Formats: sequence, C-alpha cells, structure tokens
Amino acid sequence: MKFLAKCLALATFATAIPSLSAEEVYVYSSRKEHLIKPLFDMYEKKTGVKVKYVTDKAAPLIARLKAEGKRTPADMLITVDAGNLWFATQEGVLKSLDSKVLEENVPAHLRDPKNHWTGLSVRARTIVYNPERVKPTELSTYENLADAQWKGRLCLRTSKKVYNQSLVATMMANKGKEATETVLKGWIKNLAAKPFSNDTKVLKAVAAGQCDVGIVNTYYFGRLMKKEPGLKLALFWPNQKDRGVHVNISGAGITKHAKHPEAAQKLLEWLSSAEAQEQFAGLNMEYPVNPKVEAVKSVKQWGDFKGDVINVNEAGRLQKHAVKLMDTVGYR
Ligand code: FE
Repeated sequence: MKFLAKCLALATFATAIPSLSAEEVYVYSSRKEHLIKPLFDMYEKKTGVKVKYVTDKAAPLIARLKAEGKRTPADMLITVDAGNLWFATQEGVLKSLDSKVLEENVPAHLRDPKNHWTGLSVRARTIVYNPERVKPTELSTYENLADAQWKGRLCLRTSKKVYNQSLVATMMANKGKEATETVLKGWIKNLAAKPFSNDTKVLKAVAAGQCDVGIVNTYYFGRLMKKEPGLKLALFWPNQKDRGVHVNISGAGITKHAKHPEAAQKLLEWLSSAEAQEQFAGLNMEYPVNPKVEAVKSVKQWGDFKGDVINVNEAGRLQKHAVKLMDTVGYR
C-alpha cells in the first residue's frame, strides 16, 4: 500500500510538473529517509537547490529507472553495496561522470573504475564474537572460521542478501575460486543454526550464546549496542596481516536520463565533501569515504583497522560467480 502510494505520488508529480527548473534535483534512494533527509535539508538551506526524493529497495528502484527510460524524473540513484551499483550500471541506468572533485574526495578503490558511481560511506563487514565464550586471540581471519575449532559455533546471514555475496566475491578475487569454495564448505559445516535473514538476528544469536561468532556490518552492532548496551558482543578486525577487513559502500550515481545532470553532480560532489561526510556516514554509524574526515566518536571507539583496498566494483563483477559457489556448497 505504502509502495503504491509512493508510485502514485511519483506518477502524479512526474506528469504534473515538467520539472524544468535547474534549481532542483530528484533522487531515487534505497538509503532510508532518516539517513538522507538531514543532508538534503542542509544542502537546500545552503544552496537554495530543492532536493526531492523517493525511497524504496534497490531492485525496484533500478527496475523503475529502466522502465521509465527517458521519462524518468530521477537525476540521482543512491543505494547501498557496490554489488547494487554495479548492477545499476549493467542495466544502463547510470551515466559516466567526469568529476575532479570526486576524484579528490573519494579513494579510487571506492569508485567505479568507469565513473558511473562513487562511494559515499564505507561499511565494514567484520567478525563479531561473544567475549564470554571466545578470546580475541582465538580469532584471525574470515577463512579461519572454516576451521574445525568453530564447529557448531558460527552464525551467518543468508546468502540471498547482497552483503555476503559481496564478501564472498571479493574473497574469490583475492584467493581464487577453489580456496573460497573450501572456506565456504567449512563455514557451512561449522554453522550453529540455519543462516539468519538479517545481521541483527546474527548479533542477537551471538549475544544469547546460540553461537559464538558471526559476520556482520558494524553499524548493526552499533545500533543494537546503543539499544542494549549490556549485550555480550565485541567486534574483531580480521585479516589484518593480509588483505584487511571486507569493506563495502553506500554510494550514488547520476542517471543516464537526468533532467538536471549538473545540479545532480554538484549535489553528489557536495555529499563527498568534508562538510557533508561526517553526517552522511555518522547518521548510520558508518565510516566516511573522504579520508580527510574522521568517523564519529561512537564509531571511532571500535578501534582502527586495515580495510581491503580491492576495488569494490569487483564485488559486482564476480557476484554471479559468488552466488553460484554459495549455492554449490549448500549455503542458503
Ligand atoms: Fe544494511
């Protein structure tokens, strides 16, 4: 119903106003409203440019952009995970950008090599453990969670969600298919429970002692610990002696048929700037992409880590191979 209402509102708007004004930008966002609206309000106040938006999940937004083609009212797509941005690029709904500002503000491995999108915040997918049952010295790498010592102690999120697809895809890029297959088989053998539908359920299972270790995005840990500070949970940064922690992004691109491409690019550049980055990342307890900006205090207290510097685009490029491999080993 909510979705239908949004569609109707969008259709009405698209037909009622030809949106010729250069002083507006229309955004399709799978990043939730409370994470983007404060930034858009700030931008409007600063520049007078009106930022309009609709929110939905990534897949329907990309499908809508494709179906609308030239008629789309959208200038920008904001979504999470390089896998989704890669898919949007494959679907031909984003245009390649030429922006010195983005090149300066965002490290190359967090941008599309062909400039269809840029990262705007970094999310770390790391190991979480129950400190009453695990010593951090027992932990080392994602691969080590396949070891027999973790039998019946591991909890994972479902392979259906893009997050673990991206984790596995970048592992394949780093270690090759065979080594990754061995790791996945070990993980499945070690599961304490059937894969969970989301990261928060993994966190709760670890805290409750249903399992001892899991793999989650740190902002879910941050959110849950804010609500229930007493939970028996701690983060561990794996693979610090080799490729580093798996990082992914939330990010954005300008649509191929944008009606306000210049205004949209200016907004995108501003979102990558020092002025916007702390809040863009901080609102969701993520890390800024702009290396000149520090994470908010609540995030910094989790400690420093080395992140994988493989281009996040690899997560998309190898996605279908990762999905196939997970299916082959029975990771559901
Ligand atoms: Fe998430």
